[in-house]
Amino acid sequence: MHLQAVADLPEIRPGDDLAALIADRTTVEDGDVVTIASTVVSKAEGRQADLTDFPAGPRAREIAGRLEDLSGEEKDPRFAQAVLEESTELVTDAPFLLTETRFGHVCVNAGIDRSNVPDHDLLLLPKRPTESAERIRTGLLEASNLDPDDGENVAVIVTDTCGRPFRFGQRGVALGWAGMPASRDWRGETDRDGREMGVTVQSVVDELSSAANLVTGEGDDGTPAVVVRDWAFGDHEGSDNLFRDLEGDFVRHALRDWRYDPEERR
Ligand code: GDP
Ligand code: MN
Ligand code: MN
Repeated sequence: MHLQAVADLPEIRPGDDLAALIADRTTVEDGDVVTIASTVVSKAEGRQADLTDFPAGPRAREIAGRLEDLSGEEKDPRFAQAVLEESTELVTDAPFLLTETRFGHVCVNAGIDRSNVPDHDLLLLPKRPTESAERIRTGLLEASNLDPDDGENVAVIVTDTCGRPFRFGQRGVALGWAGMPASRDWRGETDRDGREMGVTVQSVVDELSSAANLVTGEGDDGTPAVVVRDWAFGDHEGSDNLFRDLEGDFVRHALRDWRYDPEERR
């Protein structure tokens, strides 16, 4: 497997055609996976916003007030309002806002970024990252003269940097994808001892996102797009379930009944 960042991409602006910008700077081949940081997908889709766009309601004021008391730092209730508006569920409201976004991804602050956003206060996540990935994929296929009717394929993954429970440090995850399944389903296949595997579903879109994130970096590198070459999904069943259903999500259920109490911390 080989990963190569796309060089010389400009500062992305609303309305930019990411597929064309990428295809102008690199050759995309049949079988490639192209990862793109959600930051630039959001910029191209005009998801820049300002705190003044989110006048705070009573709930946002209450949340921000509590976070302010807990942290001793000033918290802008308009930011809490933006997080609420981008979310379908507030999973925890202290000591930080963990929410489910409208497209099913659970993350801190609804994934709203305050870095790498010139001229604006906030950058919201793409509204529907899988649709973004599909649109960019179609553009890349066209620009690269690849024809799906001839069995040619390119996959696109829209990524974000995201924290992990139980561990320090963030890594790349997939928000949306097109041209490949989200996971390899190993269930029913056998290990080296001939034992049939019963549970392993490998989230390849997250693993590819993490690998690519090593190349994109987190700061001013200016390399939001990465071409992954010589990697094959292989002969496995695929699955597109990346975000757990609520019924089977025990951690989420536990968090629903949990309240943050700084006095109880040991
Ligand atoms: P996120 O992981 O999607 O939240 O995005 P990051 O803020 O971590 O940025 C990922 C990569 O994209 C870094 O290399 C940034 O320097 C780069 N980047 C962010 N915005 C732009 C842009 O408008 N143009 C270019 N060329 N690179 C950008
Ligand atoms: Mn981000
Ligand atoms: Mn990042």
